[in-house]
Amino acid sequence: SSKRAFIAGVADDNGYGWAIAKSLAAAGAEILVGTWVPALNIFETSLRRGKFDESRVLPDGSLMEITKVYPLDAVFDNPDDVPEDIKSNKRYAGSSNWTVKEVAESVKQDFGSIDILVHSLANGPEVSKPLLETSRNGYLAALSASRGSSLSLTYIASERIIPGYGGGMSSAKAALESDTRPHSFARYIIHRIKSTGPLRSRAAKAIGFIDTMIEYSIANAPLQKELSADEVGNAAAFLSSPLASAITGAVIYVDNGLNAMGVGV
Ligand code: NAD
Repeated sequence: SSKRAFIAGVADDNGYGWAIAKSLAAAGAEILVGTWVPALNIFETSLRRGKFDESRVLPDGSLMEITKVYPLDAVFDNPDDVPEDIKSNKRYAGSSNWTVKEVAESVKQDFGSIDILVHSLANGPEVSKPLLETSRNGYLAALSASRGSSLSLTYIASERIIPGYGGGMSSAKAALESDTRPHSFARYIIHRIKSTGPLRSRAAKAIGFIDTMIEYSIANAPLQKELSADEVGNAAAFLSSPLASAITGAVIYVDNGLNAMGVGV
């Protein structure tokens, strides 16, 4: 019987969330997504107007269907947590039931249950600042947006120094991976995004060093090719499938092998 997946962190067709949704849809899953509230309007409009139709094409030629798009802000668990300035912000005021608990309740009401939960979001407001210059608020925001789920995306900066990946994001990823073990949930690491072109994710562009990192990886990784978002999507589909039934609590590298290198060439 077909599985139902909820993918949190899809707001365009460039990011890993979208690629994961596609791989899961291609494997027969029903797709629900959680979209950051301020990005909801433009995402739904673009979907409706067919702007993503080309990227919705699945290997069998059919189009990925998203059964429902839920507004979500993963930083807030319930309405009591939401500060006044956000409540009254007009980009938030137009939507309702977007805190984590409310979304969970809505999904339960609409569908009963889900089988697969993917966390594909990141928000490090100070990611371009070195960790030591990061404010307490920026640091806590980065950690807060990265709380665990059954499958999430992390980054090598959790264990090695990656200059330029600041704002507490390296700490957030380390926490995410550590939480994986007590939760015994599947998790994998990605190091690179698809290309230097317009397909770079919004989050990756905010970091700023993505082009350099892609070049570095192609020059130094054992598999000398670009990493495509689809490869990450396929790894996610595998980990969510019965084929991975003995894998849990793990961090899986999907990085063309770059993590195995001791020095660059
Ligand atoms: P992306 O910009 O496509 O995805 C991030 C999403 O998070 C966006 O859709 C954004 O709207 C959403 N978001 C931000 N704050 C939110 C909040 N409070 N509540 C709900 N949604 C929120 O970028 P991406 O690179 O595809 O990122 C997906 C995941 O992959 C992130 O966890 C990121 O850290 C991880 N990752 C990316 C790379 C990379 O090279 N791009 C490398 C390693 C890990």
